[in-house]
Amino acid sequence: MLNIFEDKCVGCGVCVTSCPFDALKMENDIAVVDTEKCTMCGICVKKCNFDAMEIDKEETGEKQDISGYKGVWVLAEQRGNKLLDVSFELCSEGRKLADELGTSLSVIVLGSDVKEEAKELFAYKADNVYIVEDEELKDYRTETYTAVICDLINEFKPEIVLLGATHNGRDLGPRISARLDTGLTADCTKLEIDKERNILLQTRPAFGGNLMATIICPDHRPQMSTVRPGVMEKAEPDHSKTGEIEEIEVEINAENVNSQITDSGKIINLKSDLSDIDIFTTIKEIVKEAKASVNLEDADIIVSGGRGVGSPENFELIEELATVLGGEVGASRAVVDEGWIEKPHQVGQTGKTVKPKVYFACGISGAIQHKAGMENSNLIIAINTDQDAPIFEICDYGLVGDLKKIVPLLSKAFAELK
Ligand code: FAD
Repeated sequence: MLNIFEDKCVGCGVCVTSCPFDALKMENDIAVVDTEKCTMCGICVKKCNFDAMEIDKEETGEKQDISGYKGVWVLAEQRGNKLLDVSFELCSEGRKLADELGTSLSVIVLGSDVKEEAKELFAYKADNVYIVEDEELKDYRTETYTAVICDLINEFKPEIVLLGATHNGRDLGPRISARLDTGLTADCTKLEIDKERNILLQTRPAFGGNLMATIICPDHRPQMSTVRPGVMEKAEPDHSKTGEIEEIEVEINAENVNSQITDSGKIINLKSDLSDIDIFTTIKEIVKEAKASVNLEDADIIVSGGRGVGSPENFELIEELATVLGGEVGASRAVVDEGWIEKPHQVGQTGKTVKPKVYFACGISGAIQHKAGMENSNLIIAINTDQDAPIFEICDYGLVGDLKKIVPLLSKAFAELK
């Protein structure tokens, strides 16, 4: 925590103006910290000329013994017992990391009837696939999933754990990392191994996408990362690769979770009693959103519109081209913020990460936050009136001109080709 020594504080206010988080104020000529806002970045301590502040980085316990942690894990995600694509993407990425470390790749699947689906993971070169099946695990719930996965991690001690940055993964990842007292890097765009130290280098955009930060977790295990769907390349499956699925048995009742592993028919208790774990949520019914869903992540062709489209009505031009090409409609955040189109269409850092075969950027300037979500598309075609727009730096084909004229011509031409 940030300590302020009242006897040394002269009330100059330098710390207040230097704090980037607005976490300090003056009260009766003494600096006072708002602990909710303070990130303990230490800038105020450096700026204070009177040694009136210090960061007390109290060690909370013994250093973790990380020597026994081995192997790369992927926490696969299923909906209705169907594995999401991100699980295979992570499996492909996990394979590379495991090979670099000279270790094994294991995938964990929780669900109620996932055995058949899970077999596919061997084709993505998983060495081990562990499944935990129980009716209570059919649908994701924070408490049950956290309890079982933490149990497994404590038992098997993987050095790296990867999860999809999906709605569920974003809920589960921080729970696990907090419970295991380790670090988690969210929304990684690149994962590599530092060969000298054998640690995971986790790269992600920082400061509004203006720089890329590489984050390490050197003293705690497992090293945990979430990755958005579509960011990592899915390898070609090799169906000649097979393996034996290992089943882990769990006992869950309304109030507690006990998990055990079946190892060659022998049941080993993972943890004797977890009866103090309460399950706060019950899933009564899952109701699918009524509106037509937008599946940008799996689309081969995306036609995206930005502020240059000019009005919500003009979005019809974008929709028409997308329809002719059998693609989906994407958008920049500017037009989502304007209310011209709904958020599920947004591509970019705070929207979806996409990798279609063809991406049309119509009236989109190419801000770094937009590029973060689409620059890995196979072919990018940009239409913009400004020949200096940054989108032209990353496109394969650039058309300088008014999209209101060009897009209808393209729709007509593609319709005729059909
Ligand atoms: P503008 O930047 O206004 O560009 C409009 C373009 O249209 C211009 O290049 C112009 O020359 C062109 N144009 C105008 N008229 C025509 C015409 N008739 N024909 C052809 N071209 C025309 N943005 C995202 O898109 N996705 C995100 O996920 C995202 N996340 C963000 C997260 C953070 C933390 C922050 C700070 C910003 C984020 N942004 C995101 C916003 C981003 O910085 C840009 O503001 C946004 O992408 C701009 O959208 P735009 O390109 O549609 O609009």
